[in-house]
Amino acid sequence: MSESHQSETPSQPSAAVDAESFETAAEAAAAPERAGPGRVAVIFAHPDDAEFICSGTVARWAAEGAQVTYVLLTNGDKGSDDPTMTHERLAAIRMAEQRAACAVLGVAEVLFLGHPDAMLVNTLDLRRELVRVIRTIRPDTVICQDPTVRYVGQSYLNHPDHRAAGEVTLDAIYPAARDRMTFPELLAEGLEPHKVAEVYLAGSESPDTAIDITDYFETKLAALRAHRSQMGEWDPDAEVRGWARETAARFPGSGEYAESYKYFKLD
Ligand SMILES: [Zn+2]
Repeated sequence: MSESHQSETPSQPSAAVDAESFETAAEAAAAPERAGPGRVAVIFAHPDDAEFICSGTVARWAAEGAQVTYVLLTNGDKGSDDPTMTHERLAAIRMAEQRAACAVLGVAEVLFLGHPDAMLVNTLDLRRELVRVIRTIRPDTVICQDPTVRYVGQSYLNHPDHRAAGEVTLDAIYPAARDRMTFPELLAEGLEPHKVAEVYLAGSESPDTAIDITDYFETKLAALRAHRSQMGEWDPDAEVRGWARETAARFPGSGEYAESYKYFKLD
């Protein structure tokens, strides 16, 4: 459906056809066939974000042999109401919790870019930093946050870091990581251009793809529970199980529990 180098200014008719095709794809609920486990980069704003919305998929792909790298853009150093907490101590706690979660999921590598929590902005400097990461890891598949989600329902305003993380990741993937002449200083460092083949936008309001995580749901819960500073007294089981069950119900054929995405196969 998407031709290579999709037009910068699509005509209205083709945009409308695209929208319809996505609807149809959502109804068909067919998860795209993957060529087999490859390299996967999971690029998110905060420690624990990925555990909520895509860690069942991560656990499944890792079990199937994918080489998964997590990239955390911020250090999560604002996620506490404890008046005695310091930024340094919280950042250290959250890094340790993220590493523990990744160990549960079978993630091979965790990179912390260490930007301050709640301050993330999609700048050219951040784009360059992420292009450096992408050209180094050279992922076939990227999972990242959907930058178009501004709010959900009447009770959730999406965090600005989540939107910025999604924006900068997509902007780094296309066209900056792919194009030889963009950021020539990276080429001078020996970082050759890299083309990401697939993107899964997590937390999308218009998902068209679901991944069956039925066999990995308990692993997802265990990974979430590793974020003890964020869970507090709250047990994620009932709520997260409910989301996964509802997602599976919306995408027939995706098992008892599923995670959903807006999917792109890039030419
Ligand atoms: Zn977050």
